[in-house]
Amino acid sequence: MSRSDGDDRPDEDVSCPFCGSSDVVKDSDFGPEVSKSQYYCNACETPFERIKWGEARRPDTGR
Ligand SMILES: [Zn+2]
Repeated sequence: MSRSDGDDRPDEDVSCPFCGSSDVVKDSDFGPEVSKSQYYCNACETPFERIKWGEARRPDTGR
């Protein structure tokens, strides 16, 4: 695929949890789970996952 619509760019402000760099790329839209996105840091060359909290629902602990 070769989309010229900035497909490789993260759709949100994602920073590396290890080095704090914002030079990250989205590796895939869906990781092991649907609610997770896989990213790759170019600074420290470390892949990491990011959970889409915006789409995730909180567990209903009440009745
Ligand atoms: Zn990093």
